[in-house]
Amino acid sequence: MSLQEDCWQESIPKETARIGQIILKEDNLYRVLGDGVDKILTLEDFAHLYSTDGRGAICPIILSLVTLFQYVENLPDREAASLAAVRLDWKYAMHVPVEWLGFHYSTLSNYRGRLLEHGAERLLFEKILDWIVSEGFLKKQGKQRTDSTHVLGKVAVLSRLEMLWETLRVALRTLEKAAPAWYESAIPATYHEYYSVRQSDWKLNQEEVQKETRQAGQDGYWLLDHLQESGPENVQMLPEIETLKTVLEQTFTRSKDSGGGGGRKVRLRSAKRGECKQKVISPHEAQTRMAKKRGKGWRGYKLQVTETAEATAFLTDVRITDATTDDSEVLTASQDQLIADGRVPKEHLVDQGYVSGANLAGSEKRGIQLLGLMQGDTSGKPDGFRQEDFIIDWEQEVVHCPEGATSHLWQSRVKSNKRPGIYVRFSPSCRQCAAWGICTTSEQGRTLFLNGYHDFITTRRAEQQTADFCEKLKPRAAVEGTISMLVRKHGARHARYRGRDKVNLQAQLTGAAVNLKRLNQAMCDRRQNSHRMAITN
Ligand code: SF4
Repeated sequence: MSLQEDCWQESIPKETARIGQIILKEDNLYRVLGDGVDKILTLEDFAHLYSTDGRGAICPIILSLVTLFQYVENLPDREAASLAAVRLDWKYAMHVPVEWLGFHYSTLSNYRGRLLEHGAERLLFEKILDWIVSEGFLKKQGKQRTDSTHVLGKVAVLSRLEMLWETLRVALRTLEKAAPAWYESAIPATYHEYYSVRQSDWKLNQEEVQKETRQAGQDGYWLLDHLQESGPENVQMLPEIETLKTVLEQTFTRSKDSGGGGGRKVRLRSAKRGECKQKVISPHEAQTRMAKKRGKGWRGYKLQVTETAEATAFLTDVRITDATTDDSEVLTASQDQLIADGRVPKEHLVDQGYVSGANLAGSEKRGIQLLGLMQGDTSGKPDGFRQEDFIIDWEQEVVHCPEGATSHLWQSRVKSNKRPGIYVRFSPSCRQCAAWGICTTSEQGRTLFLNGYHDFITTRRAEQQTADFCEKLKPRAAVEGTISMLVRKHGARHARYRGRDKVNLQAQLTGAAVNLKRLNQAMCDRRQNSHRMAITN
């Protein structure tokens, strides 16, 4: 599709402008947008999304605006497309004539697909932020705050057997489309008939479920083996086939060889052992993960939100991460994005989940003061000695315990979670110590792991006890209000689409819509203030 130079009218059509200026108040969001849209969006911004020839596309500025309106009002595609043809306030913002009939609702989905295809998912979010900057509402080197919330993915809860059936069904459907000739000759008709329809285990008893699960596992492995032996190369690595491999692996163990008796043996894993951070929970959305926070579980993603900590807060970074990604692992990416955008904060306010020694050190390197509470020292037994009860001599590379003993091993190590530090061990003579049993129950003596960022951690633990620090941290809490608003008014709790990239696009569009509303409010407040001042003067 190609971009038509004349698809956008810079001025509002006469009749639309006349009626709009009568019925829309000066501070109406759509009127403000209609009067200022040329400052933020031009056809050039979208040129890279379209080819130079082909059928003329519907104006991307109009599609961008309808997309923003649907996120401002939390509407589905069909409703947004039909309202575009009848709402005069929208028509005023879109610079279209009163009699304009709009477009088919599928155009909105195609337009989002185009944004994703060209890596332009942040385009509208950035454009609205640029407008906010140009209006002087974004302070340089100010305070910003970050928090996260869970997003429920568009996935059904499937039992283990249903998951296997569904994964096989999806894999077969993909193979049938991608390699029809091979599929026709290689897949038996009974296999195709059984697995090409949706199945449910709700009529089966426990024993039948076990039997069917094992059978589905064997059939799944048969398909993979057959595909590897005779299937075309281009289909071996298809995502649906990779998902089948993962689902089989997380459900079964398989013997290395046949042991002389037919095929390789397939054994069901215990349901608990199949649980892991990277567990696939839906063949339709292999990136969705199951996670738990404060005893509450969910299937989906996490939404990370960063906003300015001013009277009118503007969102500066929104991103979707895996549900299982720890908040502390996301902070670096968020700060790097803020630096790249030229919106680096002086102080970054966060909750305990984001604060780690590595993040304190990393933020300092970037010139950002990370403000948040460091977790308490949880090393050692609950009633025993904590790490902070030991005296660390970094120069001599020894540690003195509360009972006066000195460590006999000091070794640099990297933990399995990739965190570097110093492994310290006291000797087996701990067994003779009066505190043995309270301090440790190891026959080999007490061990400690000194975090590589020990100084940052101890300094933070000390400063977070001061009233000054608590005062500085107070504005952080307001980000929870923003998250609540995103969830209640803009549907951020539920993924509208399938796939992480699409859910990330949803987050960017939601962020852009919220910023647009807040910008309108800020401009309205500023107008009223200057009006008031003019009267008093
Ligand atoms: S158990 Fe070992 S490390 Fe702990 S207090 Fe006694 S001597 Fe010190």
